[in-house]
Amino acid sequence: MLFYCKKCNNDIKKLNFQEEFHLEIWAMLRQGLKLFAIQRLVDEYKLSHKEAKTVIAHYNDYGKCHRCNYNHLDKEYINCPQCNAFNYNLKPKTSFNTEFCTYLSFKLNFDDLGIDEIKAYWCDGIDSIPRNIIDLSKSNILKNKSIITKAWIGKSGQDEYEMEILLGDESIILYEQNESLIPCIPTSDFKDWINIDTSRKHIQIQLK
Ligand SMILES: [Zn+2]
Ligand SMILES: [Zn+2]
Repeated sequence: MLFYCKKCNNDIKKLNFQEEFHLEIWAMLRQGLKLFAIQRLVDEYKLSHKEAKTVIAHYNDYGKCHRCNYNHLDKEYINCPQCNAFNYNLKPKTSFNTEFCTYLSFKLNFDDLGIDEIKAYWCDGIDSIPRNIIDLSKSNILKNKSIITKAWIGKSGQDEYEMEILLGDESIILYEQNESLIPCIPTSDFKDWINIDTSRKHIQIQLK
């Protein structure tokens, strides 16, 4: 199947992205790795370089037109009502996103862990792109019940830690439904859900 973009007069292939492949492409584009994403499409779907480039050019961040400043695109495979450009507009299929990571970083309270060494520690950020992007597929979440990523923690908030986020029963159910995981972050009894090892630069978080 082909889409047609009235803005650039190009035919665009409709690709059926499998979940893990979609996650890979999405993560590559978020990291600015456009050329790698084009090459992955060429390899996976046997597209010509030009066809793959055209797909990637129309692969936007969900909601935002890739061409103009319109940011209310609300359907997949949609023409922008403002500039007429075609947008793939696929939703990223994961609840592990920047919103969740930002929220979690604010909720980490090191003072209440009762360890002198880490008093005044804080978290300056959590990477929403995990070490291995396909860990975010639903089947892998169900199997591993964990996500491994990076976090920046310390007195200056700048030491790089490996962060292991363990998903409990509630978060697994919400994850399968693409719902927000924010309600699964405990709000008290920090010792029960934050486990930090400063010598190994490792932190483990247990969600509900
Ligand atoms: Zn176009
Ligand atoms: Zn537009």
